[in-house]
Amino acid sequence: MSVEEKLKALYDLQRVATEVDKIRTLRGELPLEVQDLEDEIEGLETRISNYENEVKALNDSINEKKNDIKESGVLIKKYEAQQSNVRNNREFDSLSKETEFQKLEIELSEKRIKEFTADLATKQGVIESSKQLLGERKGDLAAKKKELDDIVSETKNDEDKRIKKIGQIEDTIEERLLTAFKRIRSNAINGLAVVPVERDACGGCFNKIPPQRQLDIKSRKKIIVCEYCGRILVDNEIDQEKVED
Ligand SMILES: [Zn+2]
Repeated sequence: MSVEEKLKALYDLQRVATEVDKIRTLRGELPLEVQDLEDEIEGLETRISNYENEVKALNDSINEKKNDIKESGVLIKKYEAQQSNVRNNREFDSLSKETEFQKLEIELSEKRIKEFTADLATKQGVIESSKQLLGERKGDLAAKKKELDDIVSETKNDEDKRIKKIGQIEDTIEERLLTAFKRIRSNAINGLAVVPVERDACGGCFNKIPPQRQLDIKSRKKIIVCEYCGRILVDNEIDQEKVED
């Protein structure tokens, strides 16, 4: 294989690889958006379940306090009955104190019930709004998943064809060169390892290329890399030659 043929093969490889990159860009953020929605839904479900447990605990506490109030009521009635049978003032006063204590207990329980009920309403509100949001997010997820599935099935064929083509081109390129190509490509943000000279500059990093170097590139006798970004440079005509097919 002449250097010229190597350059053409490398540029061809770059072109097809870029097409695959574009297909994947088209899918773009969708897989990530689907993942984000799934995470958010999981978070909402956990929150709802936690709040539902808290609501249950609050209801239990309210019932407990209601029972306490009943028990205090029973005690008060008992003390009042006992007061009509006392033998002295001391016993009467003692029962009055017990009654007073139970009345305070009732007040305290009523205060707690009020607090629990308010807390309950807040938590039920959160559950309500979380459930609504959950419903919306589930709808969003279904739509995104469909969008992703559609794009994947639409582009799968194109992608597979190009991946096969990449394999075929790679088979024609010597190991050392291919390794260099892959290394440069993986280091480049835009995935470009082979770039044409455009307007006297590197098509990858846009730094100017001196005229003599441009002539060397045009002669296609040597593989020349950009001294700034390390990308393999090809002349503009190779670019033109490859555009039409
Ligand atoms: Zn460059």
